Amino acid sequence: MRTAASSFPNPVAGALDVADRLPTAKVLDRRAKQRRQMLGIIGASYVIDASILLLYAHAGTIPATVGPAFGICGLGSVACFIALSEAGVNDRFKDHYFVVQQSMVSLAIMLAFAWLVPEVGMLFLCTLFVVFSFSALRSTPRQTAIAWTAMAFGLAALFLLTDKPISMPNQGHLERFATMLAFVLTIGRCMFLGIFASSLRESLYKRGVQLKEAYKRIEELAELDELTGSFNRRCIMRMLDDEIARAHRSKTPFSVALIDLDWFKRINDAYGHPTGDEVLRTFAITVFANIRSIDRFGRYGGEEFLLILPDTPHDVAARIVDRQREIIAELDWSAFSPGMCVTISAGIATLVANEAPDALLARADSALYAAKARGRNRIASA
Ligand code: GH3
Ligand code: MG
Ligand code: MG
Repeated sequence: MRTAASSFPNPVAGALDVADRLPTAKVLDRRAKQRRQMLGIIGASYVIDASILLLYAHAGTIPATVGPAFGICGLGSVACFIALSEAGVNDRFKDHYFVVQQSMVSLAIMLAFAWLVPEVGMLFLCTLFVVFSFSALRSTPRQTAIAWTAMAFGLAALFLLTDKPISMPNQGHLERFATMLAFVLTIGRCMFLGIFASSLRESLYKRGVQLKEAYKRIEELAELDELTGSFNRRCIMRMLDDEIARAHRSKTPFSVALIDLDWFKRINDAYGHPTGDEVLRTFAITVFANIRSIDRFGRYGGEEFLLILPDTPHDVAARIVDRQREIIAELDWSAFSPGMCVTISAGIATLVANEAPDALLARADSALYAAKARGRNRIASA
């Protein structure tokens, strides 16, 4: 004899924990944090270039004021953007990073310094490429096109409208070291960009997987009966239509069984509605555990269920359903309440040529009625 466990996990519980609906304040906080990170990186980049400029100054290539002036301009612009960000100004705009604005400020600073100190002009142009590549990671295609076009025009103006000898010094030992450092640190920043882009891609991929899982769960929820975890009526009826169409096409035998719990109203009356619900769940889970993977089982209404048996001739269907009846009758229902007995009756119908779903169900229903009339806890065939 099998034992009915007193409580079964509801297959519908615990859904949609991946749905990521943060309150607005949290979203704003997260954005502000991302902006702080981004501005911090830009500030660090200015400090790196200012340090290299100090080295050039030490080598006597450029005046000692260039490095500090560059640092002040760069960090000053970063400070302005931080102030705007902290004041919440950015949140009023769709592009809360102010990508184009920041790119334009960088472009102006770099071109101005390349023009003012052409001896180390290439350094600023290298940094410009790093800054614009970094911006591209957070930009829309339109913003990227605008920013890079502006840069192209700016560089064209620098080279064609002035006669400044934009270059990189490499005379003395210290100059060569500073130039090497400029290139190596540019490469380092490019490498950082690559890593940053990879981590962005990875987090996007993860989010995509989470969305797919949530979507699958939503689909499942839309198909399942909340109480029993079996397919709901809409879903099982759609499956019936599909399977009947397939059986007609492939000319394979096809059967259904309408299963109804016997005297269920008495069970509710005697043990209470919540116990009745548990009985329904246990019945459904037991059937699930004992059907084939090709079979479909759903709640047709109330305490009446539909079992779809594809590729199944009548005699096999009768055997399968009678086995279910036996299993339910032999289950130890006393776990719910001492002395409780639960039985089912079923009406089986096998599809005939050109038969419509409604006609097949009507025959199964008549057979179920006959099984009830003959005394219940039995199956009957249409
Ligand atoms: P029969 O053997 O002729 O089928 O008798 P029966 O008492 O099962 O038939 P009847 O149709 O008179 O009663 C079905 C009962 O099933 C009535 C209804 O309250 C109960 N029922 C329907 N849906 C649910 C449900 O979700 N939970 C519970 N606890 N009871 C339900
Ligand atoms: Mg009943
Ligand atoms: Mg009924």
